Parts: sequence; structure tokens; C-alpha cells
Amino acid sequence: MNEISFKLIYENYEKYLEKCLALPLIKHIQIKNLMEKLRSKKIFTTELIGYSVEGREIFSISLGKGNRKILVWSQMHGNEPTATASIFDLLNFFSCDDEFNSIKEKILDKTKIYFVPMLNPDGAEKFQRENAFNIDLNRDALRKESYESKLLWQMAEKVKPEFAFNLHDQNSYYTAGYSNNSAAISLLAPPSDFEKNITETRLKSMKLIAKMCEILKEFIPNNIARYNDEYEPRAFGDNFIKSGISSILIESGFLKDDINKKLIRKLNFIALLSAFISIADETYYGCDIKEYFLIPENKPLLFDLLLRNVSILNNGKLFKVDIGINREKKYDYALNKFYYIGKIKEIGDLSIYYGIEDYNFENYYVVLPNVYVNSFGKKLTEINFLKLLKDGYGFIFSKEYEIDKDYVDYPINILYNKNYKPKLASDEYANFVIKRSNNRIYIVINGFIQILNNSEIRILNGTVIH
Ligand SMILES: [Zn+2]
Repeated sequence: MNEISFKLIYENYEKYLEKCLALPLIKHIQIKNLMEKLRSKKIFTTELIGYSVEGREIFSISLGKGNRKILVWSQMHGNEPTATASIFDLLNFFSCDDEFNSIKEKILDKTKIYFVPMLNPDGAEKFQRENAFNIDLNRDALRKESYESKLLWQMAEKVKPEFAFNLHDQNSYYTAGYSNNSAAISLLAPPSDFEKNITETRLKSMKLIAKMCEILKEFIPNNIARYNDEYEPRAFGDNFIKSGISSILIESGFLKDDINKKLIRKLNFIALLSAFISIADETYYGCDIKEYFLIPENKPLLFDLLLRNVSILNNGKLFKVDIGINREKKYDYALNKFYYIGKIKEIGDLSIYYGIEDYNFENYYVVLPNVYVNSFGKKLTEINFLKLLKDGYGFIFSKEYEIDKDYVDYPINILYNKNYKPKLASDEYANFVIKRSNNRIYIVINGFIQILNNSEIRILNGTVIH
């Protein structure tokens, strides 16, 4: 099967894309509906394997008749849905009748694959990492307090897989090695002890990753990383390796301009498929683990916004710093929407870091924004925000607005607390004005940078400071 063209499969991917699932949010009801559809397809065996803490169904889908057993689960962290979508794309690939039938037959002849999509449906509902007990399932492999962790162990005991794929999302701040290439896909063969010994079981994972990497490189030569290999005794991958299951961690990362991780979802599809094919045709046997160790390490070297060489006035003195800012993506469950809280992560010499948005502000200086006191009780909808921003205002002070949230859908911050003093320091909200020879050129509101002579506002939301 050496002549398989992943490029051709990649080009045909749209055909397999499960259109019922759109990132960044997947809810359990969508999985339930898709399971109905899968049940009618002959090649799949579907099973209700149990329930989450809040009583949501957890399913498995299996296919193939081979001896080599593979267990794949996704979204044990509720806010990490990318691979769940990729799994359903793969299922469409397998059930589709097309020019790749011979590849599928080969895989299904040699392997039996069990998928458990969305292991943590309660977390998915609220877009939170933990389950309904607020327990991180990937730190519960030893104690098994959560229903979902028990189910995963039961699956492993029942299936007795040779390989296990543990599918996650990581945040957008990782790079492939010391570079500004974001890590799109990060891979790991977890260790089974603190010494990180390379056991036979782990060796197999490493070889398979080397093979997957070889194939992924066709599409993202510079955006593949090797995840941190510190031993975590409470995690599933590490425990599975210990019990003789060759585990592989796949982290869906970040690519600039990849809106809603469409491309990452596709790369995940390719990554998993490349692994299945390599297991079926045994091509990973010949891989050298040197190739595994040559994959650049996953490094946290990116900020959402990096402002370099900007001057700050403090006690009458000017000094030069870099400012690194991240915007935390949060989910408003009641309104079913995402918003951001932007904070300064670090100030100082950040020359080893990179910005997803990266500015050199040599000859610019930073001042804190003003507070606009809404003494006439104007409604927020009546306010000309762009004018306020141009005049250097970053906050509106009013006791009259009733907002019980920590954000507003306006490009400015709301202040309830009169004693709040904006500060340029790490962990503070990221709000300031950037000037050049006394002119206000840019303003940063809630971690979003706005050029002031542009009427198109790109600040997605403000913070509410209580
Ligand atoms: Zn995770």
C-alpha cells in the first residue's frame, strides 16, 4: 500500500466532512443525532457504553474485523472538540463508496477500530475542561472517581487494544520548537515512568508517530511538534502505556487564519488515517525513533498580541519594554456564545517570544486610558464608541447599567468599581493607549488592538469590572 496518495485523500476531504458538526462548539445532542444516522449503516457497530455524571449517553462505534485492535477517544476535556469532528469525518470516509475503497478494505481487514467520541459530554455542554464533578478526567486514571473515567477503563479492558489514541486540543500559544511556527498538530508517545524509559510498548508508539509525522509533513512541514514528555502518573496515556497499550496523544493546535480550526480538523483526520493505514500495512515497523526525537518540541512561545520596544513612562522616566497579551476565550452558557477576556501576561524583554499579531513599537509610548463618566445616564446604545476610543477613553463608569456578566458586547470596558485603577502589569486587564509624538495612534481594549484612524472596530467585546 506504499502508493497511497494522502494528497488525493486530502483533496477529497470535503466529501467526508460531517456537515452537522461545526467547530468551535459541539454539543452532545449533535452526537446523539449522528449516532441515529450511523446505526443504519452496516459497517458500523454502535453501542451505548454508559452515561456521564449528568446522565448523557456515551457511545462507541466500532468497525473492521482485524486482529489489531485500536481504541480512539476524544473530548475527555469538554472544551476540546476538534477531534470529535474529525472522528465523524473519518466515519464518513469509511462508509463512503469511492476510489479509496481498497485502502479502507485493507484497514478494516487488518484492524478493528473502536471510537468513543465525546467522552465528557457534560463538560462539552458547558465548554469546560472538567466533567460535572469538576474533575479533570485526564488526572483521574488512577482514582477513577468519575463515571467517564471508569467507562474508559472498561472500554480498554473489553477491547484490549494494541493502540490507543487520546485526542485533545491545546491552546494557540504553542510553537514547533524555538520558532514562530505555531504547533498545528502535537504528538506524544507518553512515558510510563519518571525516567521516561523506552519500553517495547512506548517504542511502538514512537515509531508510529514517526510514520504519521512523515505523512503529515506533506501538508504542514513546519507545524508539527512533540508534546512535553514529563511523566504524569494520573493521566490515561501514561497508564495505558504502562499496561501495555501503545498510546498516542494528538493535540489539535493552532494555525493562523484557520477560522474555527477547519484545517486543523482536516489534519487530524489525516493524522488518524495515516496511523490506521500504517498499522494495517505495518509500514511503521521500519521507522527509526530518531525521527520521533527529531520532531521539534512543543514550546509555549506565542502570545495573541505582542507589542515590542514600546516606551512606558514611570515616575517621570521613560523605559522600553515588550508587552505580551493573551485573550482567554470564554463561553457564555446562557447565551450560547463565546467572548474574550484580554490580560497582560508578561512585560519586559520578550525577545524570545512571538506574537500571533506582532508589532514593533519603537518610538511609540504607552499611557493608560481614561475613564469616561457617564453622568448623563446615556444608554450604551447611544454612545459613539469610536469617538470615545479616539479621545483615549477605555472605560465607561456607570452605576446604572445592569450587567451581571464579566463582559459586554461593546468595544469598551464597563467600570462599576470606582476604585479600580488600570495598571500596566502582568495579570492585569490589557487596556492602554499607544501614542507617537503626542498623537494617539492605537488603543488596546481588552487585549484587542485598534488602529484609531480606522473606522472599522475590531474589538470583539469589552470587560466588565465589578
Ligand atoms: Zn486536553
